[in-house]
Amino acid sequence: MDTFDKALKITRDALLSIQDGFGKKPHASLQTLEILKSATHHVSRKNPTASTPSSKSLNLPKKPAKTPLKPPTEILDSLRKAALICTKCPHLASTRTQVVFGVGNPEAELMFVGEAPGADEDAQGEPFVGRAGQLLTRIIETMGFTRQSIYIGNVLKCRPNMPAGTSGNRKPRPEEMSTCLPWLREQIAIIRPRVLVALGATAAEGLLGETRPMKELRGKWLEYENTPTLVTYHPAYLLRNQSLQEKRKVWEDMLLVLEKLGHPISKKQRGYFLS
Ligand code: SF4
Repeated sequence: MDTFDKALKITRDALLSIQDGFGKKPHASLQTLEILKSATHHVSRKNPTASTPSSKSLNLPKKPAKTPLKPPTEILDSLRKAALICTKCPHLASTRTQVVFGVGNPEAELMFVGEAPGADEDAQGEPFVGRAGQLLTRIIETMGFTRQSIYIGNVLKCRPNMPAGTSGNRKPRPEEMSTCLPWLREQIAIIRPRVLVALGATAAEGLLGETRPMKELRGKWLEYENTPTLVTYHPAYLLRNQSLQEKRKVWEDMLLVLEKLGHPISKKQRGYFLS
């Protein structure tokens, strides 16, 4: 193995360790890893005894024509495949039906983030498919989107386990969310949405580390890694509190999202849930 091969191996191992340890800039690490994989493959196949290249030739990301990057769809699919076999939380891995990775457009401009899958999501493998999910779908469609045009994911990818013999769902614990958060960070880094919406206080805590009450969080722009992020009520809250006033609060948050994205808002849309 010559110097170049050694340098590539060291860099590749370092990136793999970042990937395993869920690095802070995952999109970059994944893409760079792909480049290095192909570069290593290319060098070893084409000329196993190639001499050490100049530093200029090591500047791989500036040569897209020779080393094309994979589209977000493929990168996200690779990430999904890795997440589906994750066992970092043994107590969740042993009780889940399946990992609920996320659904939607890998290049979505808008991404909704919830807290964790419930029983329905665990059974179907898709986030937000129960009653609260159906309400979220109505909100999304009233905004002018479809579930396929945006992206929906959770902070926790596995259903929080329940004591034996009990039903229902529980909130994810902070340590469970922090263990799983790197998967979501990877998703966001690949999708690169223009706007994020955190659904509920638990999602806001998991994604942003925010522990302030909802009345202080909602309705104003926060940031996740320079991405404008809005916190609003979880749709399950609206199922419990069906007053026009609470529905209007969530809808006003969604109007803020549409404005931020520069989407036209009709007079009818502006008037929803006003008494
Ligand atoms: S909750 Fe997340 S980190 Fe834990 S096992 Fe499931 S996918 Fe892995």
